[in-house]
Amino acid sequence: MRPELENLLQLQEIDMEILAIKKRFLYAPERLKTLKDANETKKGELQELKDRLSSLQERKFEVEDELEIETERLKKSQKKLSSIKTEREYNALLKEIDEIKKANKGREDEILEAEEEIEAILKDIEEKKKEVQEVEAQVKHEKSELDKKTKDLSSQLEALTEKRAEVEATVQPTLLSKYIFLRDKRSGIVVVSVKEGVCGGCNMNIPPQLFNELLRDDKIYTCPTCQRFLYALIEKDNA
Ligand SMILES: [Zn+2]
Repeated sequence: MRPELENLLQLQEIDMEILAIKKRFLYAPERLKTLKDANETKKGELQELKDRLSSLQERKFEVEDELEIETERLKKSQKKLSSIKTEREYNALLKEIDEIKKANKGREDEILEAEEEIEAILKDIEEKKKEVQEVEAQVKHEKSELDKKTKDLSSQLEALTEKRAEVEATVQPTLLSKYIFLRDKRSGIVVVSVKEGVCGGCNMNIPPQLFNELLRDDKIYTCPTCQRFLYALIEKDNA
């Protein structure tokens, strides 16, 4: 391989590493966002349970008040029964008493149901609080891990950038600008091997004449299909 191509190949390898590191930089904020979203969801669920609890408690107090008032009314009506003269009035009052009793039975049932539900929700709230704490601890733990990883990546990137500058200085400017142009168009891979007459970049056959010229290694050749820089890869058995 021609030395200028060797330098370019080295530059390509560094650029690929840099690209991979830059991609890995994206992971930490994405992961943190996922965790924070999960945390928000759990907090939202906890809030819903608390809201449900307070509306149940409010409703329970309301019904308890009603029950107290209606129990008083029932007592008064029952007292009144003995002083009633006509059968018609008596029956009407009996009917009223019956209705109050029925309504109060309904109120008692509702209070019981509310108490059962309140008890269950209190348990759910405790569970949910634990879940929120767990997620918060996980966020905290992962954040410090991710910060560490990001720091590592930064120093890796710094070292690579320095190395890249050194290698870049060894590449001819015209070759370098062609490389950069192709690198951005061909997702990083610009210098490729040709094996058994096939371009390692685009997998197309290159003309046999070009392959023969490539073997002479007297200048830099490019693939007629994808324009990448070529070098011949010769199997050891054939060499
Ligand atoms: Zn090609």
